[in-house]
Amino acid sequence: MSRPEILFPLFAGLDTLPGVGARTAKNFAPLGVERPRDLLFLLPHAGVDRSRRASIRDVVPPCVVTVEVEVLAHFPPRRQAGPYRVTVRDKSLEFQLVFFHARSDYLQGLLPTGQRRVVSGKVELFDGVAQMVHPDHVLRPEEAGDLPAFEPVYPLTAGVTQKIIARAAAGALARLPDLAEWIDAPLLAREGWPGWKAALTAVHAPQGPGDLAPTAPARARLAYDELFAHQLTLALARKAARRGKGRVSQGTGRLQAKVLESLPYALTGAQSRAVGEIALDMQSPLRMSRLLQGDVGAGKTVVAMLALLVAVEAGGQGVMMAPTEILARQHMEALAPLARAAGVRLESLTGRDKGAERAAKLADLAAGRIDILLGTHAVFQKDVVFHDLRLAVVDEQHRFGVAQRMELGAKGRAADVLVMTATPIPRSLALASYGDMDVSVLDEKPPGRKPIRTVLVSDQRIDEVVGHLAHAVAEGRQAYWVCPLVEDSELVDHASAEARFAMLRAALGDRVGLVHGQMPPAEKDEAMARFVAGETQVLVATTVIEVGVNVPNASIMVIERAEIFGLAQLHQLRGRVGRGAAESTCLLLYGAPLSEAAERRLKVIRDTEDGFRIAEEDLAMRGAGDLIGTAQSGLPRFRMADLERQAGLMAIAQTDARRLLADDPDLTGARGRAARVLLWLLDQDRAIKLLSVG
Ligand code: ADP
Ligand code: MG
Repeated sequence: MSRPEILFPLFAGLDTLPGVGARTAKNFAPLGVERPRDLLFLLPHAGVDRSRRASIRDVVPPCVVTVEVEVLAHFPPRRQAGPYRVTVRDKSLEFQLVFFHARSDYLQGLLPTGQRRVVSGKVELFDGVAQMVHPDHVLRPEEAGDLPAFEPVYPLTAGVTQKIIARAAAGALARLPDLAEWIDAPLLAREGWPGWKAALTAVHAPQGPGDLAPTAPARARLAYDELFAHQLTLALARKAARRGKGRVSQGTGRLQAKVLESLPYALTGAQSRAVGEIALDMQSPLRMSRLLQGDVGAGKTVVAMLALLVAVEAGGQGVMMAPTEILARQHMEALAPLARAAGVRLESLTGRDKGAERAAKLADLAAGRIDILLGTHAVFQKDVVFHDLRLAVVDEQHRFGVAQRMELGAKGRAADVLVMTATPIPRSLALASYGDMDVSVLDEKPPGRKPIRTVLVSDQRIDEVVGHLAHAVAEGRQAYWVCPLVEDSELVDHASAEARFAMLRAALGDRVGLVHGQMPPAEKDEAMARFVAGETQVLVATTVIEVGVNVPNASIMVIERAEIFGLAQLHQLRGRVGRGAAESTCLLLYGAPLSEAAERRLKVIRDTEDGFRIAEEDLAMRGAGDLIGTAQSGLPRFRMADLERQAGLMAIAQTDARRLLADDPDLTGARGRAARVLLWLLDQDRAIKLLSVG
């Protein structure tokens, strides 16, 4: 399949647009503009009121004014690099136009003495005299009608001016093809949205500030187009992921019952519900693609184990992948007793397995003698062959994007896929990141959890903190001490942790351990193991302990320079404590003075332990792009849609996209064909590929 011809003009070179030469075309790159299409989607972010005034006397400087003037006299600079002044008079006041580094003959031509011109620009007072420095526009009265009363303002970059963008955008708008409508007609009517072409024309010609709002019909429509295309891609991916498994994993409940009996607790309602949803998916002939979302400590591990047992009960195997060796090891410790209770064979495989031992494991796996395999991404290496893999569980994959998940799905052959994430993300973002999956949420914490006391402390009081820590250590308690990521560099990062380690060692003795990302894995594991065994009581760490680590006896969490962490990250880190019987404390050390915004953020953490609330507040304060770091979260970037302020549209787009595919699976109906053009228009190549294989 190739791009429909009707879209060719929009995908031509940028230099085919008026006023854009080869060099300007290159200058556009930082704006993400490479084709006329991109320019259409580059929306003005502000506007300037250029409505005509009779005189600058009517305004309070500094402000932008548009007036008709008579040119009185030119005053070239008396010294080099001095200003060139032109005095002009509007209906009631005389003032000066001021130019720097301008050529005299050019200005004489632009503003001939005795003639009338419309000038527009910012009027300022200079020594009490009104002047307009470098007017934005100088027009002959008969051209003045070309200047809109409300002029759109585009984001700029070096070598690209407003005038260049406005002219090029007008050129791109002149090429707009007539495209068939892809939005559901009732939805279009209900929202009062214009058609695609009218919407683009309108967003580039705002009539006032109201037209720039995300709720303006033209803007909302274009945002919806983008979200709809994205959701259509996800829906196609979901369909592809579910297609062709063709087999049913029907559990007997026999092994699950043994595990449930062995647990010292009962499942929460949310856990039981999630297990039920997973079991239903697994027994359906469609391939499961499900996200298990649960805040830290919500109890995802046991849910994963019960799911893996469905695969084993059905006569097959399961695999679980953790993002790091530390976490793989922790899962091993958590799952091993459960596997023993069920009487199934659980083995681990990481990058550290080598030689004969590894070969023996692989042979057992291929022969079906291993029921559940647990490990790092090593479990998906080419030579790892299963006898009958039925379920792949991927833990803590909030760092994975849709594309990676698709790859993983391909590697996991026809197995069902369960992705677990501890990152509580607001619904709109969850739909953007995981719209291709079905979601189970653990929205209920196991009973009996004690609240964590969270305190903000200036790092000027670090000596007091160390003193308290000494007491706690003497009482047999354990603590994490987290050092920040400095300048995003692992190198500096681990230096700061090592310095803190040395300082705490000096103060607290050899009960202090250290773990950071630069350590060889074996050392890292050993440091963790010593902490888990209680041999060390204070663990100085970088954010490597962020996800998943579980040491129930640890009841103190100190986070240094808390103000430079993201809220989600702080929440994750704090979730490492409060897992045992003891009262837990989290000390957020900050570098004083704290900015107002930073203080507001830290107070959110102090005041709630609800991960979803924290995520919503984070989104509200920082905006979607920033939330978890776009690249990290696997969140797509949108050109026109604003996930924060147009959040409601995402859910509509998802429902609509799934329905369209249900009604017209191959997108061959009238609306389906229009939607294909939309996918091409918005570069959803992945979707297009999925369509062509399907
Ligand atoms: P996470 O969702 O963060 O991975 P875990 O699975 O590590 O959470 O569970 C955290 C702790 O809660 C573990 O010690 C686990 O044994 C315990 N736990 C899990 N489910 C329950 C439950 N229903 N009741 C009591 N404790 C539970
Ligand atoms: Mg976990």
